[in-house]
Amino acid sequence: MVLEGKSVFGGIAIGKLSVYGKKDRQVKRIKISDTEAEAERFHSAREKAKEQLTVLYEKALKEVGEVNAMIFEVHKMMLDDLDYIESVTNMIRSQEVNAEFAAATTGDNFAGMFSAMEDEYMRERAADVRDISNRIISVLQGTAEGKELGGEPSILLAEDLAPSETVQLDKSKVLSFVTKKGSANSHTAILARTMNIPALIGVDLEKLEEAEGKLGIVDGYEGKFYIEPDGETLSRYKKRKEEDEQKKRLLQELKGKENVTLDGKKIELYANIGGVADVANVLASDAGGIGLFRSEFLFLESEDYPSEETQFGAYKKVAENMAGKKVIIRTLDIGADKQADYFGLEKEENPAMGYRAIRICLDRKDMFKTQLRALYRASYYGTVAVMFPMIISVREVKQIKELIAEVKAELDQEKIPYKDMEIGIMIETPAAVMISDLLAKEVDFFSIGTNDLTQYTLAIDRQNPKLDNLYDSHHEAILRMLKMVADNGHKEGCWVGVCGELGADTTLTETFLRMGFDELSVTPSMILKVRDKIRKLDLGKCSG
Ligand code: PEP
Ligand code: MG
Repeated sequence: MVLEGKSVFGGIAIGKLSVYGKKDRQVKRIKISDTEAEAERFHSAREKAKEQLTVLYEKALKEVGEVNAMIFEVHKMMLDDLDYIESVTNMIRSQEVNAEFAAATTGDNFAGMFSAMEDEYMRERAADVRDISNRIISVLQGTAEGKELGGEPSILLAEDLAPSETVQLDKSKVLSFVTKKGSANSHTAILARTMNIPALIGVDLEKLEEAEGKLGIVDGYEGKFYIEPDGETLSRYKKRKEEDEQKKRLLQELKGKENVTLDGKKIELYANIGGVADVANVLASDAGGIGLFRSEFLFLESEDYPSEETQFGAYKKVAENMAGKKVIIRTLDIGADKQADYFGLEKEENPAMGYRAIRICLDRKDMFKTQLRALYRASYYGTVAVMFPMIISVREVKQIKELIAEVKAELDQEKIPYKDMEIGIMIETPAAVMISDLLAKEVDFFSIGTNDLTQYTLAIDRQNPKLDNLYDSHHEAILRMLKMVADNGHKEGCWVGVCGELGADTTLTETFLRMGFDELSVTPSMILKVRDKIRKLDLGKCSG
C-alpha cells in the first residue's frame, strides 16, 4: 500500500512500523471537600511541570538549537498565564472538583478557543495548551508521558505528536515519523526538520493499529509512505538510502560548526535555491539561511502568471521550513535567457542587455505588486528579506520603495499581518557598483551577482560558449568592484554579500574575508566545502 503525505523533512527511512500509543489519560471527575488543599496540589504540580520543561529546554537547546527549544520556554510561560491558572483554580473552588479534572477541562476549553481563532499561529497553539494540561495531569497522576520505545529502531506512526513528545523521543530508536494530523508550522514539524529525520504529516491512514509491526518505507523527498512494499520497491529504496547515507557521512563532520577562521573572523554562509523543493537540501547542508531564492523559477514552471495565493504559498513554505533563519527572496528576474511565453516579450537583438528583471516589473506594476503582496504576506511566517535584481539607478530603488509602501498600506487596510522586511538589491551591473555609495543610503543590504556583473563588466555574453575562456570572474576589474561595493555598503551600515557563483569559489574565500564580506550565498552542496575552507584560514598570517 502506498499513501501520500506532506513532507516536513526529506530523506528515506526503511523499518518496522510502531504505533505511538498515548497513555489513555483517564481523568475522572472527583468531588473534593478541601478545595484549598486541591488548589495547592495544582500549584505544586505546575511548579514540577515547569521544572520538567526547564530540563526539556536544556536538552532541546543542545540537540536542536535555541530557536526550536524556545517552545518549552513558551510552555513554561503558558503555565504562568494568569487566565489559565485562574480558570483551573476557580473550577476547583467553585465546582469542588479534583485538579486533574479542572486542568483537563481548562486545557480543552482553551484549546477550543485557540482553534476558533482566525490567526493561524494562534490556532497552532491549541496543541500547546493541551500539551501543558496533559503535563500537569501526568504530574498529578504520577505517570510518565508517552510511549516506551523498546527494541529495534522503528518508524513511528501517530495521530499527532506534541512538541514535548517529539523532543522526548529517543532519537536512536526513531527512524522517521508519520502523523495523520499536524501542520508544517507546528513545532513538531520544526523539530523533525532539525532532528534530521524524514517525516511526513497529513498521511491519511485510517487504522493506525493495523500497521503495527509491519515493514514500512518513508520517502520524505516525494511525500510517500509505503506499508509492506513489494520487493522491487524495497530494493530501489535500499539503494537510494545507501547513496544518501554515503553523502551524509561526508558532510556530517562539519555540521553545526561555525564559519570562522582560525583567527576568529566569522562570515554567514547561506544557500541559493530555485524553489520550495530545494529547502530540504538547504537544511541538510546546514546553511545559515537562504541568500538567494530565484523566484522566477515559480513563473517559469507555470503556464500562466502564478497567482498571489500560489506565490504566497511557496514563499510561506520556504520561510516556515527555514524556521526563523533568514530567507532572501529575489523578485522576478525574467527576460534574457529566462523566458516564459505568457509574458509575450518581443524578440530582442540583445536580450541580456534588454527588457528584463526589474525593468519589466516597474512597467508591469500590477504583476509586480502581486509578487510584493505575496512576499509581504509570507514575511509574517519567518525571517524573510526581499531583494531586487538588475538595479542601475537610485530612481529605480525609490520607485520600488513607493510600490512597497502602497502594498503595505493595502495590507494594513485589509488587516493582513506582515513584518517589516530588510530590503536589499543585487549589485550586478557596473552602474550599480559605481553608485553603490548612493544606493547604500536606500537599502539594508547588497548582494553581488557576480554572474551578471562579470558579463556586463567584461562585455561577455554569459550564454555564449565561444567566449567561455574569456569569461573571467577573477578579472582584476571584478575584484576591485567587489572591494568597492563592500566598502561603500559598510560605510552606510549595509551588510554585503555575494550570491553569484563566485561566492562558492574557494580560491577566493580568503579574498572575500579580507574584503570584509558579511555573507556568501552558495549552492547547498557547497556549504560545507566553503565552511571547511574558512575554518582552515588564518587571516592573521600574510596571504601567500
Ligand atoms: C548573478 O547574476 O550573479 C545572480 C546571482 O543572478 P542570476 O545568476 O540568477 O542572474
Ligand atoms: Mg543576475
